[in-house]
Amino acid sequence: GNFIPPIKSNGGNTGNVTTRVAGKSDDASDDSAKRCLEMLCGPDGELPEKLRNLEPRLIEHISNEIMDRDPNVRWDDIAGLDHAKKCVTEMVIWPLLRPDIFKGCRSPGRGLLLFGPPGTGKTMIGKAIAGEAKATFFYISASSLTSKWIGEGEKLVRALFGVASCRQPAVIFVDEIDSLLSQRKSEGEHESSRRLKTQFLIEMEGFDSGSEQILLIGATNRPQELDEAARRRLTKRLYIPLPSLARAWIVRNLLEKDGLFKLSKDEINTICSLTEGYSGSDMKNLVKDASMGPLREALKQGIEITKLKKEDMRSVTLQDFEDALQEVRPSVSSNELGTYDEWNKQFGSLS
Ligand code: ADP
Repeated sequence: GNFIPPIKSNGGNTGNVTTRVAGKSDDASDDSAKRCLEMLCGPDGELPEKLRNLEPRLIEHISNEIMDRDPNVRWDDIAGLDHAKKCVTEMVIWPLLRPDIFKGCRSPGRGLLLFGPPGTGKTMIGKAIAGEAKATFFYISASSLTSKWIGEGEKLVRALFGVASCRQPAVIFVDEIDSLLSQRKSEGEHESSRRLKTQFLIEMEGFDSGSEQILLIGATNRPQELDEAARRRLTKRLYIPLPSLARAWIVRNLLEKDGLFKLSKDEINTICSLTEGYSGSDMKNLVKDASMGPLREALKQGIEITKLKKEDMRSVTLQDFEDALQEVRPSVSSNELGTYDEWNKQFGSLS
């Protein structure tokens, strides 16, 4: 009730932007919200139309928690997935870099779906897109919209798309998009989640028809739960499968980064054949566990952790990986993989 919308003074002085926040009175949070609003004001000092009726604290939340100015992931950090990288470059990165060429017949789709087992690099791809296309990256988990922002999800969605349109080119990454756009709840669906879904589809429709440089990427482990409306808007649907040869790359890359890589080619091949069915994220956990091997051994020999020198530790061996394999099991079952293949055949972008 005590919310006062931001208003411009007659002189266009942004210092007059009012940022009293409903339910909050401390100066620090007022200041932070004010700074966020000021950063979004145009050269004339005015807040863009789309943001005028939104609550400052939501804009502040988007700016501070959801917007990532430097996503810091590049294509080279992602192992394998050459097909996905190629499609995404053509569909997303070139159009974001050269909007003048990609219009008319060449105008790109504005919605991309990345589907597949968890921990296979979908979020990494989203970040890399933003990084390579020099776009602002917005990350939101759809389940947090329905759980954490109960009753406010709609407003947050509006604020999200509003801020994105002021930060173009922009990539909005919606993780677990199935929990927002699922078909399951259509019968007897909760009123607030139905409204949230409608608002989301309206926002998507809005930027799809305009000339805005905003790309929406949805990621899901449960593509079969998406309804027809969602599929229609997410025009390109890319399967992000479990890594095959890329498993070796992940091991090498992670160990090399820490200067711990001493394995032979044969040993790497053995690790690769022992990890059939592991996701990229499982591989990361495996490397973490294996790299604890030398440390555990040194401590077993009685060296105190506070006195331990890095030189006292041996390098990571195949045996460390074999031990770690007992602890770190694959997180995706083969039944689940069948479901992805089926859905990919029916709805996926295969070329
Ligand atoms: P998803 O979004 O598909 O659930 P993420 O992109 O969040 O998975 O990946 C989780 C972690 O697993 C990453 O931070 C990375 O360390 C590792 N990972 C997964 N896939 C790959 C890959 N293809 N290349 C390199 N690392 C990967």
